[in-house]
Amino acid sequence: MSEKKTPFELYTLLCPECESPVLEIRDLEFAVPEKQKPYWIDDGDTLPVNLPKEDLDFFYAHGGASLLVGNCKSCHEDYFVIELVLANKEVDRNSAFYRDYIIDEPEDDPVEISPIFAYQDLDKSYIVSSWFRSVYYAEGHIVHRDIILLNISDDDAKGEFGMSACTGLGGVWDKASEFIANNFDILVKNRVFEHNLA
Ligand SMILES: [Zn+2]
Repeated sequence: MSEKKTPFELYTLLCPECESPVLEIRDLEFAVPEKQKPYWIDDGDTLPVNLPKEDLDFFYAHGGASLLVGNCKSCHEDYFVIELVLANKEVDRNSAFYRDYIIDEPEDDPVEISPIFAYQDLDKSYIVSSWFRSVYYAEGHIVHRDIILLNISDDDAKGEFGMSACTGLGGVWDKASEFIANNFDILVKNRVFEHNLA
């Protein structure tokens, strides 16, 4: 089953607090609106997900998830983003490919960017504000990179030294982690198999 491309001209991610645009996507280009410049994301760290060992091994063999934070320059509230990255094949964690495509934001342009609208049936979908997926083809892999903007506020998510699951555990960390764990088959397992059929 291949995923359908949703035609759109402009897709805008809005601050969950004040609805000011924080990121605009036009065709295959991302743009940070003038008011939010220079960055729409300030910090982030690996999101620990509580899964049975077999699932966790599968997840980390194909990608991983991070929790990112940005600060809206209109209302000065923080907003949180799950970044979920999945490759269609197992990736060697010591490779340059892993660093360039799973950990870092790829430098090359995606081949496709699509808003995701069909997530309302997922468990705990009420934490999601907006969502889009970028697709990259690189070194024989297909990589899906999901950006999931959450509508959760959490004043305690950032520790003394920025975003860190060690210092900020609880609140948004737990909710983001639960969202992935509770929807693991749909978000991770089935998708890895599906994009091999695409
Ligand atoms: Zn705002």
